[in-house]
Amino acid sequence: MLYDVVIVGGGPGGLSAALALGRARKRVLLCDSGARRNAAAVHIHNFVTRDGTPPEEFRRIGREQLRTYSNVEVSDVRVESITGERGAFRVELSSGLVEARRILLCTGMIDERLPIEGFRELWGTSIFQCPYCHGWEVQDRRWAYLARAADASHLMPFALQARGWSRDVSVVVADVFDIPQETRDRLKAAGIRLETSPVERLVARDGRLEAALLSDGTTVPMDVLFAHPPQRHVDLVTRLGLALDEAGFVQVDPMKRETSLPGIYAGGDLTTRMQGAVMASAAGVQAAAVLNVELTMELASSGKL
Ligand SMILES: Cc1cc2nc3c(=O)[nH]c(=O)nc-3n(C[C@H](O)[C@H](O)[C@H](O)COP(=O)(O)OP(=O)(O)OC[C@H]3O[C@@H](n4cnc5c(N)ncnc54)[C@H](O)[C@@H]3O)c2cc1C
Repeated sequence: MLYDVVIVGGGPGGLSAALALGRARKRVLLCDSGARRNAAAVHIHNFVTRDGTPPEEFRRIGREQLRTYSNVEVSDVRVESITGERGAFRVELSSGLVEARRILLCTGMIDERLPIEGFRELWGTSIFQCPYCHGWEVQDRRWAYLARAADASHLMPFALQARGWSRDVSVVVADVFDIPQETRDRLKAAGIRLETSPVERLVARDGRLEAALLSDGTTVPMDVLFAHPPQRHVDLVTRLGLALDEAGFVQVDPMKRETSLPGIYAGGDLTTRMQGAVMASAAGVQAAAVLNVELTMELASSGKL
């Protein structure tokens, strides 16, 4: 079976790309293996018309709207490997082999869990990564930000912006690292507490975060913890050997969204630290539109349309 485009990933990025390509009359296969990045979240926020929608409902609506376009197939399969070249890719699925003229990767990122007792259990319910997504619901509660050595430059901007949502903000750390005096002074001026002994354990009651226990024995009360754990690509992306930027995201041409491998495009979380459902959607649509122009020109000039 030859498709114009195989899209890998059925989150906001892939669904949006499939819609755009479907409406452009391209033959599309959207493959999704299921695990969602925001699986632990109860609602999606900060996506106009979908604010407060459960993630599963978001995907259900996305798939339902794609049913209008008979040229788009949606399949719950894993893409195991991609070989070949621009115009003639061989895509091995968990259900068999297909061919595609172009590939669009919308595979998202995988959040690692930090090795702190309680972190895994509280992720998505009391531990969040984005205040625009979840800050409103917990405004004026006891906030904490979990800073990491590997991400130290984000400590001050994140902690100061958190004050926009709550007067009660603490910074705790996942590991030991130097915090410049200027940062300490600015946090203090903003009324933000800084604890420099690493968090050993998160204490919860009835599934709700109550405090962090630090390695020096201090208990820091908190209702909500913001954290940016390390992220990694799905195996498929790693195996493709695409060029990455200095932060480890897949490098794409900002306009064309083509990766370092000709004919393979990418959009959504896997290409940027600026992550969010609406942004992944926009990137998916952009990739689809640019890819469609290029593919249509090629097909038209070779008499294949
Ligand atoms: C706990 C949590 C809560 C969040 N809440 C919000 C929020 O309220 N608002 C907001 O805007 N953003 C939120 N986000 C961020 C948002 O979820 C992401 O920015 C968004 O989902 C990214 O979309 P995407 O399409 O790039 O990737 P994803 O949504 O991660 O989708 C990628 C898809 O690709 C599939 N996939 C991966 N590899 C393969 C393969 N080999 N074959 C087939 N399929 C594959 C995965 O199964 C997955 O379904 C939240 C994130 C987290 C972690």
